[in-house]
Amino acid sequence: MIEILSRTELHRAREVGALVADILQTMKGRSMVGVNLLEIDQWAQAMIIDAGAQSCYVDYSPSFGRGPFGHYICTSVNDAVLHGLPHDYTLADGDLVSLDLAVSKNGVAADSAISFTVGDSKPLDSLAMIDATERALSAGIAVAGPGARIGDISHAIGSVLSAGGYPINTQFGGHGIGSTMHQDPHIANAGRPGRGYKLRPGLLLALEPWVMADTAELITDDDGWTLRSATGCRTAHSEHTIAITDDGAEILTLAR
Ligand code: MG
Ligand code: MG
Repeated sequence: MIEILSRTELHRAREVGALVADILQTMKGRSMVGVNLLEIDQWAQAMIIDAGAQSCYVDYSPSFGRGPFGHYICTSVNDAVLHGLPHDYTLADGDLVSLDLAVSKNGVAADSAISFTVGDSKPLDSLAMIDATERALSAGIAVAGPGARIGDISHAIGSVLSAGGYPINTQFGGHGIGSTMHQDPHIANAGRPGRGYKLRPGLLLALEPWVMADTAELITDDDGWTLRSATGCRTAHSEHTIAITDDGAEILTLAR
């Protein structure tokens, strides 16, 4: 199903997008050496409840996960890249953390992810990988607008990731979003321009380039949720929810 949002729904999408951005930036600020992933989950839960919003994750039970997720934010560290289940792990200097958050309020969802390193040591290869996913995200947003096609976004994202030398996994990628977190169309992180669904004003999309340093192969952790690189290499993930407007795209989850 593909939804086109009304003006009122777009207003609500901006509000929940700003909330997701605020929570992610707050969690990034608190992600210091010595902080446990379960604390980050509890802080995220408190902010969601304080805002009168609902978690898209806590009861989420898709085919690719084991039962309800049961937590409020995805915390993926180092070789973990997607769907990181918060667990008893204490952040260490140099860790590469990806936080992914989807929240719904007034019937509209927003979804965003950020990656960053923790502590004083700044591993250059990790920073380069994070930068590549952020530039790929910007490139995807730059070509999104009325009349453009999903393949244009996939191609723009994939071109940046490939130029960085990163293998691309097209199993998990971006998606439509609206009254629920995951909707059609799927937006692979590589593809051919001029192909696929044509974008229209009022369409909400979550674009999410992610990479693993030296492989495109994922393995599922024993927790049944967390997806890790098959080689144990580091990974990065960047995501924004955008609205297609009359003349381009508006980023709804931009940090302020
Ligand atoms: Mg997400
Ligand atoms: Mg998403």
